[in-house]
Amino acid sequence: MARPFLFGTNFKMNQTPTESAEFYRQLAASVQIPSDTHLFVIPPYTSLAAVTVVAGQPPHQIWVGAQNVHWAPEGAYTGEISVGMLLALDVDLVLLGHAERRRYFHEPDVELNRKVLAAVGANLRVLLAVGETAEERSFGVGGETVLRQLKIGLHDVPPEQLGLIQIAYEPVWSIGAGGTPASPEDVEPIARLIRSGCADMFGETRTSGDRGSGGDIPILYGGSVDPSNAGTFTALPDIDGLFVGRAAWTVEGFLATYRAGYEGKSTSR
Ligand code: PEP
Repeated sequence: MARPFLFGTNFKMNQTPTESAEFYRQLAASVQIPSDTHLFVIPPYTSLAAVTVVAGQPPHQIWVGAQNVHWAPEGAYTGEISVGMLLALDVDLVLLGHAERRRYFHEPDVELNRKVLAAVGANLRVLLAVGETAEERSFGVGGETVLRQLKIGLHDVPPEQLGLIQIAYEPVWSIGAGGTPASPEDVEPIARLIRSGCADMFGETRTSGDRGSGGDIPILYGGSVDPSNAGTFTALPDIDGLFVGRAAWTVEGFLATYRAGYEGKSTSR
């Protein structure tokens, strides 16, 4: 069975609750989502309640994601948010390990692993972001970095919870306003490496019942994606979707980039 196509955006530290809710309302009203596809938006914490009200009762047509979560169920962690708090708002997914969290907030892989396990243990989907810096790439250890982030991040995830995991490959040198767009030739070998890392950890093919395998984990690409290049990344065999920043921060941009990416995948299947 083909892996699903995924497409979504992270608003980072932008938007008020009213703006995020309006974005979601307009997007939901403008899009027909094929059965092989999942769309998602990841607003800031302060917008989550307003967006999930617009999204209505779960299952949500468009997943609503949070940008981070703490690993502990509760306690003396001022400023942090627990998995239970997100689930109480009907949040569908949590982004973990974004390059900005790793860089500015010094989130190490072992802490990210605790967060991944806390989320999947409570049945919350995870989008784990991995990616090498320009410096690591220049020393020829980009692949090692990505595999380390993947293998520590997903350590001990039970096979029956693998269906909750998706990976976003985001080379740090290609994301955000100062980023250099990557080419599909840059992305292809790392996507293949992530795929084989997932297979090493969890096996390649589905074995039985609800137990997932490494071959089932969707891999998204992110970094300076826009409608002009989206389809070139999704045409790659190991890329199952896109995780987009700036180009998807308007409803029109979201739809144009999603459609270009979906078309690239459909024509390559
Ligand atoms: C990101 O920051 O995760 C990202 C993909 O940003 P952009 O698409 O703007 O490069």
